[in-house]
Formats: sequence, C-alpha cells, structure tokens
Amino acid sequence: MKAPLAFPRGNVHKAATGRRPALSLHSPVTKPAIKALSLDELTQLFAAQGESAYRAKQVTDWLYKKRIDSFAAMTDLPAATRARLASDFSFVRPELVRVLGATDTTRKFLFRLADGNLIESVLIPASPALYGQTSDRRTACVSTQVGCAYGCKFCASGLDGFTRNLEASEIVDQLLAIEKESGEKIDNIVFMGMGEPLANLTNLLRAIRIINAPWGLEIGARHITISTSGLAPQIRKLATEPTQFRLAISLHGATDDVRSQIMPVNRKYPLAVLLEACDAYVAEKKRLMFEYILIAGVNDSDEQAQQLARHALRLSAKINLIPYNTVEGLEWSRPSRNRQENFLRILRNHGAVATLRREKGHDIAAACGQLRLQTKRTEEKVAAVP
Ligand code: SF4
Repeated sequence: MKAPLAFPRGNVHKAATGRRPALSLHSPVTKPAIKALSLDELTQLFAAQGESAYRAKQVTDWLYKKRIDSFAAMTDLPAATRARLASDFSFVRPELVRVLGATDTTRKFLFRLADGNLIESVLIPASPALYGQTSDRRTACVSTQVGCAYGCKFCASGLDGFTRNLEASEIVDQLLAIEKESGEKIDNIVFMGMGEPLANLTNLLRAIRIINAPWGLEIGARHITISTSGLAPQIRKLATEPTQFRLAISLHGATDDVRSQIMPVNRKYPLAVLLEACDAYVAEKKRLMFEYILIAGVNDSDEQAQQLARHALRLSAKINLIPYNTVEGLEWSRPSRNRQENFLRILRNHGAVATLRREKGHDIAAACGQLRLQTKRTEEKVAAVP
C-alpha cells in the first residue's frame, strides 16, 4: 500500500493577506516538489512503500549530480517507481525570462515561477572586495520571497509589496538554473536577493540543508551567507542552528532615528533589541557581519561611522560598506568616492574591521527587485492594451 505523504506543502499560493491570488494562466503547483525533500525523507518514503533505501540516493543523484529535468529520465528506477513519483510530486523548473550582463560581469537572471510570479537571481564574478579578501569565487545572490513586506525605503523589492514565500525547491532551483544557464559552478551563496530570508525561515533552512548536503549541491556552509534586515526573534533562533552558515545584518543606520527613517523594521525591532539578539547569536560562538549601504546625506555622516564602529566592536563584527545602487523612481543616491573613503577611514580609526565594496552591476539594474519590477510593469501595460 502506498504510504500517505507526510511532507509539508508549504504556502505556495498564500499571499501575505492569507487570501489566495487570482488564477493565472500558469498552472499552480499543487503537489509537493521533489526538490524540497532531503535524502532522509526520501529514504523514509521509499521504506514506507516497501522499496529499497538506495532508491533515495538514486533519486538525489539524478536531481543534483546528473541534473536531469524529469522523472522519466531517472532510468535506473523501475518504471512503476518513476510513475508513482510523478503522480505524487511535482518536478517544475523556473522559466528563464531574461538575462542581463555578460560572462565576465555581474549577470542578472529573471525567472518565472510555475504560478507566473517573477523572481530575480544574480551571479557575481570574483570580487576582491566582496568580503574583504581576494576571492576567485562565483557568488550567487538568491531570492527567498516574491516581493517583500519590509518596505526598506531604498529597495526596489519592497516597492511592489509582498506576494508570497518561495518554497524550498524554488530557492534550490535558482542555483540549479543559474549553473545550467551560465555553465559555471557556484561556490558562494548570499541570500540577499528579493525578500527577507528570515521571514521565510522554515523553507530557507530546508533549502540550505539541500544546498549544503553531500548528496545535494555540496556547497560548504561557510560559503552560505544569510542576510537579514534585523528580525531579532529569528536571529535568536538561528543562534541554535547547527549548520555553520554566515549571518549578515543589514544595518544601514547606526542610530534609531536614521535606521527608522529608511528601514521600517527598526520600529518593531529597534537597535537595542536587535543588538541584544546579535549578542545572543555571538554568545553561541557564531560570527556575524554588518552590511551597510552608504546613502548620500542619509547615513554617511561622521557620527554614523563612529556609532557603527562601536556596534561592530561590541559584536566583533566585520563591516561591509556598499555604495548605494540607484533605483529608478527612488530619490536616494550614493555618496562621492571621497565621502565613502572618509567613512571607511573613521571606522578603521576606531578599530573596526571594514571593507568598501567595489560595486558591480550598477548599470544593469543590479539593485535587487529592479529588473522584476520593470518587466512586471511592462507586462501589465501590454496586458492592459485592448
Ligand atoms: S532590503 Fe531586503 S528586507 Fe528591505 S525591502 Fe528590500 S528585500 Fe525587503
């Protein structure tokens, strides 16, 4: 007898409001995705169905080593097993809509999901200043939600509001699709694309386990960085996670008045609350870093630099300064090169470890969410033409 499926279906079609969105021409995914399951879960599934445990490893090899794109292609599984998998699980892939950029530059990928929603992922080539050290790594910047509810004032992803969380499989699929399209091996991942990763913590951690596992994408946990706008309760939860990924706090303001001006999340979790959660995280012998987007006339004063250095020293956190990427329709701009260097100098004079990122992709709508927004608005205009 077939065992009942015990795998979570997640919230594939649930919007922030709890309502389901209107039907689209793209067929919604109603079955759990095969790429959301761990090797252990697949092993249990096969065991419950009276099949050998090694079938599970065969499936993960097809998915993540041989990278096939249908159950039918799993040719060393019996036909009946393939048919059962196909009836119980979905095997969708994101559709590539656009690629911007060239081989030796930042490339931005726009994907359409099975339900028609658009998401962005970015492939960043080696950058000597990305994490403050020389690197020959290719980094993928991955989305975790469609849109974002956090509404940071400088960000294109928040401009259109929140639609839904990504499933674990949709997070993993971005990496599989980027590697397939680019022909390059990703060796570094940052969850800094569209969405607040910690607001989709369950699916994010499920995806990270698949990405990190030897039977999965086999990317070392130390090469995986989660970025958060500062969800204090979730940071405390991450402190007890066994996987040794890296955590980046998007600070972007060193005092409550400046931070609240550009990040509404600061009203819910002001700096005192956020930094206490960071203390708890660091107390578990985990390291974190600060991301700080430099915006002219907003957060680039000498006082902000001094205060930022104090926060960093308290947590032994490295600071990554990022000059602001202009977003169409938003008023903000990046400080002059002089001003950026001055900010960096103050941090270092106070004893903080800091780097200034040499920005890549400024000219290809690299700030997260921009390409999606442009494409979505164009498609809406076309659809509105009678
Ligand atoms: S910066 Fe991050 S958390 Fe803030 S609106 Fe953009 S995607 Fe959301």
